[in-house]
Amino acid sequence: MGAPPAPSVGIQALIGSDLAERGGVQYTELAARHVLNRCNTDRMPDCWTINPYRGCSFGCRYCYARYTHEYLGQRDPLAFERQVFVKVGSPELLASEATERRLRARPIAVGTATDPYQPAEARYELTRGILEVLARYRGLDIGIVTKSALITRDIELLGRIHARSRLHIGISLITPYRTLARRLDPGAPTPERRLRTVQSLAAAGLDVGVLASPILPSINDATRDLELLFRRSKAYEARWISVGPLFLASGSRRHFLAWLADAMPRKLPLYRHLFASGIDVDPRWERGLRRRVAVLRRRTGLPEGSARGREPASLQLVLPGSGERPESSSPRGKAPSARR
Ligand code: SF4
Repeated sequence: MGAPPAPSVGIQALIGSDLAERGGVQYTELAARHVLNRCNTDRMPDCWTINPYRGCSFGCRYCYARYTHEYLGQRDPLAFERQVFVKVGSPELLASEATERRLRARPIAVGTATDPYQPAEARYELTRGILEVLARYRGLDIGIVTKSALITRDIELLGRIHARSRLHIGISLITPYRTLARRLDPGAPTPERRLRTVQSLAAAGLDVGVLASPILPSINDATRDLELLFRRSKAYEARWISVGPLFLASGSRRHFLAWLADAMPRKLPLYRHLFASGIDVDPRWERGLRRRVAVLRRRTGLPEGSARGREPASLQLVLPGSGERPESSSPRGKAPSARR
């Protein structure tokens, strides 16, 4: 792994005042300069990404997006979940930078480096404001990824978007077991709650599926557990289920392996072996996963993606530093600093 990026003085200068502190999470203003960020990587081909927050209080152990705080010079991986930056003014800025031609040029992925419906959204409503802007247009291709039941607050708005554009919603769920979910996604809703969220969105006629990514070797990859996840997803009316393996990049590797050493030390040698060559898991393990998943698809009839188009861009699909510009913000009224 390379060294984390050097803190950017320009980016650090973008941080505004503290807004609130709740439940051990500090919310801090970060004024947005761009809302639409273009991403084009092997894992996530040409699309717009929109992330109204930076950081995420759900604090998933495997979250790749911790690198976004490193760009702010914050090397403590826990800062990602304890200090959430709120990109105030994002809906207004999107309204000013969006045109139908621009928005239609490529798919739009909402929530690729943060959960757009994490607890901050209940207070700041930036995701809702952004979706209100997107609802003005027709013919867009929009994907949303979340673990949060808060998305059901916006069902009527999502229905309006669905009627005019292609909208795919992925509810992120990697295990049907509450105890394991509590260990892996400590701040996120229980699996039952997430499945009820799938059911509510499906009942509203929305295109919703389960995003079972990342699958972690020897932790949530047992065939019987995957089969239960498939069957529960189907029982709760998921239209599709998308499965992807863990990858470990940048700060996420240090954080995840340190957590693993503490929480499941006997698995550490296996991970060192399977991830010996870098970010991606050993391809033989991945091929084995894909074979087992293919069998489960045949058994349950759940396809890989939406019948209306591609499944939403996954949180596990963007390679840090290889396309997405995390520096999408600048102080209001100041000239933009150099983009990375
Ligand atoms: S994986 Fe998603 S929900 Fe979990 S901490 Fe990262 S951004 Fe938040």
